[in-house]
Amino acid sequence: VSRFEGVSMAPPDPILGVSEAFRADTSDVKLNLGVGAYRTEELQPYVLNVVKKAENLMLERGENKEYLPIEGLAAFNKVTAELLFGADSPVIQQGRVATVQSLSGTGSLRLAAAFIQRYFPDAKVLISSPSWGNHKNIFNDARVPWAEYRYYDPRTVGLDFEGMLEDIEAAQDGSFILLHGCAHNPTGIDPTPEQWAKIADLIEEKNHIPFFDVAYQGFASGSLDADASSVRTFASRGLELFVAQSYSKNLGLYSERIGAINVVCSSPDAAARVKSQLKRIARPMYSNPPVHGARIVANVVGDPTLFNEWKQEMELMAGRIKNVRQRLFDNLSEKDNNEKDWSFILRQIGMFSYTGLNKAQSDNMTDKWHVYMTKDGRISLAGLSLAKCEYLAEAIIDSFY
Ligand code: PMP
Repeated sequence: VSRFEGVSMAPPDPILGVSEAFRADTSDVKLNLGVGAYRTEELQPYVLNVVKKAENLMLERGENKEYLPIEGLAAFNKVTAELLFGADSPVIQQGRVATVQSLSGTGSLRLAAAFIQRYFPDAKVLISSPSWGNHKNIFNDARVPWAEYRYYDPRTVGLDFEGMLEDIEAAQDGSFILLHGCAHNPTGIDPTPEQWAKIADLIEEKNHIPFFDVAYQGFASGSLDADASSVRTFASRGLELFVAQSYSKNLGLYSERIGAINVVCSSPDAAARVKSQLKRIARPMYSNPPVHGARIVANVVGDPTLFNEWKQEMELMAGRIKNVRQRLFDNLSEKDNNEKDWSFILRQIGMFSYTGLNKAQSDNMTDKWHVYMTKDGRISLAGLSLAKCEYLAEAIIDSFY
């Protein structure tokens, strides 16, 4: 008898479990719209050309594999904060950002969560309802209490802006408000710039601490600056804030686990102290981060030619997703005899679309049509090709009515 009799079987991850089910399906019409990873029009994974070029440079230089410092690669930390806030931003110029390279977006969120647990033991984190499923797991594991704020309005398949403001207003002063910098996951619904300004007003008034999760900078609109505008609005007001960054999507570095946590502080002195404590938390967790992805980012951003090429490839990826979004909308509008208004699909941004399909309807998508997606009605348009839009539209209409 095993000492592990008391260990029960954990449930499959609701997002990664979709891929497992997809692999087991033998149908040749099957479509995986579960995981948010970019595919080409041929539905193949894509390694960016700039990544290959940067890796070639790295090989030629024969760089060694010595440990990085706990806070990561200095050249990476510099460029990642500049990409986010803008190189001429006062927070950069005044040395008020504590940046620590971490294990992509997830690891950066986790590091910040541990910091919050330690230094703000009485604070709650407010998470949008719905949000990326892992957010709750991360704060649960870090023993940080959380609550939700309203975000999605099923009647309009749009933003419940009033509800969002009410819940942020009602939260205890000094709460952490988790915000998706752009391309909200899973809904694809973002506040407008005017709405962001009102959210910032309220957060400032309530003395809350904004905590941005930026997993799609440049990948949502195709522009690094446009996708960072929410964060920059808040930073330019002189607020202290957290930002977790990921290069999984915009550089296609999913498995390299490269990202960073940035804490904007009101003084360079506070930033130095915060950084020292983030390092102290990282050391017993994983000692120091991996170098490969950090070097890729530093090389791509640090070389004007590669940097421009990256921007072009990002526009290409974002553009392909926009084309698929438009085609899906066209096919839905064409095939739907019920005159339903599908234009909410065009108002969404980023790789995901919230279809408004409920669990039973999402089950029908998978069981009858072999379309794999999360049960909240989210589909990843990055896993869809123009050629498959018509089939998907048929499946959605059949499942919806
Ligand atoms: N936040 C959000 C909102 C995401 O969608 C993702 C990726 N699915 C992440 C964080 C983190 O991803 P990673 O750990 O690969 O950077």
